[in-house]
Amino acid sequence: MLYISTRGDKTERRFCEILLEGLAPDGGLYLPVVYPKVDSTTLARWRGLSYAELAFEILSLYIDDIPAADLKALVHKTYTPAVFGSEAIVPLRALGDSGLQIEALSNGPTLAFKDMAMQLLGNLFEYELARRGEQLNILGATSGDTGSAAEYAMRGKRGVRVFMLSPHGRMSPFQQAQMFSLQDENIHNIAVEGVFDDAQDIVKAVSNDLAFKRQHKIGTVNSINWARLLAQVVYYFAGYFQATKQDSEQVSFAVPSGNFGNVCAGHVARMMGLPIKQLVVATNENDVLDEFFRTGTYRVRGSADTYETSSPSMDISKASNFERFIFDLLGHDAGAAERTRTLFREGSFTLSAAEKARFAEFGFVSGKSTHADRVATIRATWQQHHDMIDPHTADGVKVAAEHVEAGVPMIVLETALPAKFAETIREALGREPSRPAALADIELLPKRFSVMKPDVAAVKSLIEQHCA
Ligand SMILES: *Cc1c(COP(=O)(O)O)cnc(C)c1O
Repeated sequence: MLYISTRGDKTERRFCEILLEGLAPDGGLYLPVVYPKVDSTTLARWRGLSYAELAFEILSLYIDDIPAADLKALVHKTYTPAVFGSEAIVPLRALGDSGLQIEALSNGPTLAFKDMAMQLLGNLFEYELARRGEQLNILGATSGDTGSAAEYAMRGKRGVRVFMLSPHGRMSPFQQAQMFSLQDENIHNIAVEGVFDDAQDIVKAVSNDLAFKRQHKIGTVNSINWARLLAQVVYYFAGYFQATKQDSEQVSFAVPSGNFGNVCAGHVARMMGLPIKQLVVATNENDVLDEFFRTGTYRVRGSADTYETSSPSMDISKASNFERFIFDLLGHDAGAAERTRTLFREGSFTLSAAEKARFAEFGFVSGKSTHADRVATIRATWQQHHDMIDPHTADGVKVAAEHVEAGVPMIVLETALPAKFAETIREALGREPSRPAALADIELLPKRFSVMKPDVAAVKSLIEQHCA
């Protein structure tokens, strides 16, 4: 399988070449030249597989530069009941007779769905770096979820160090405990005296110093990474097999969305031929994507128009994976690349009526949820089904309910566990969220982190010190 850029760069690359890269050199995102098609015979064969076996089958269609035995070993090492809490890895549960089912993607080490992809990425990075005899220093800024998922994926991995900046004192006690309690030598937590943007600015400044970046092998693990997206395709198939009895049935998925990475994986699964009826994009008050699917206008927001909400992992002003869908919508060819390049150079854009008319063909619909909706949905779900959901999943449930169709199971992706968002759970239910037993006293564990002024030179010198 070869990969191309959504902006038309003619160089075709193989999987391991793009594994450690972010954007394509022309600023586009990588996609496979074609989506491999899965027919009903293949679906029938995959139905009985374990999660790891299914992951191997799907990944093999996209990865031909890792020997099959090695790839198999990597996925079996990644998707274990010990790491993800159950044999099913992503078990499905019904919300009474509402027609909605919840697919649990958040039983990994950091209690959010990002573990599903990041855990695989950690193993792939370690494998590929060893093969090349190279090292990688991952530098990132986080306000919570992504940083911890990256650290738990990379901890103890040979050839990889993580330098993660976070705003000092601004993460929840639970999030701080999650990240700062890691004692692994290759994990470096840097609490920056400032807000998230200060941390983000430092990462940008270091990455823009190309000489430093090259010399110190600086990389990232952001959500545009194709390997992350590919790993997420697997749980759409796994959810489908659990919700259906035979391969002529259709299901719909509702996805709490921010950077459009998760739902883009659903789009890829659908392009491969998985019988998905609707892909329901759920946003919070930051409704860039809902506005787009309703109107055909993609209007990127400034930071002043990006709200801090109670589903914080969906607080985005522009959806970094969205370009992949636009490229497909426009035809996935050279002409599409040219138009994609023009549209995303402008930043905000409006599609033509003919282009917008094609949304239905791709199954996309959307909706939006507010803080009041979240609280009401968490409360109603608890009262009616005795099921406690987190605020992001609540956005998904709220919007999913608006699109349920008789006879078509609607699967809502559970993107985090309530334990991570105690404040909103208290507001909705007047009680503390339940927490996995292993994490009961996580706040009491010793913490390992350094506090720093928002100073680019200081961060660089810390990296140099550890690379020496
Ligand atoms: C990252 C995240 C999302 C948004 O996912 P995207 O792939 O960015 O659309 C939703 N919910 C939670 C809990 C997350 O951590």
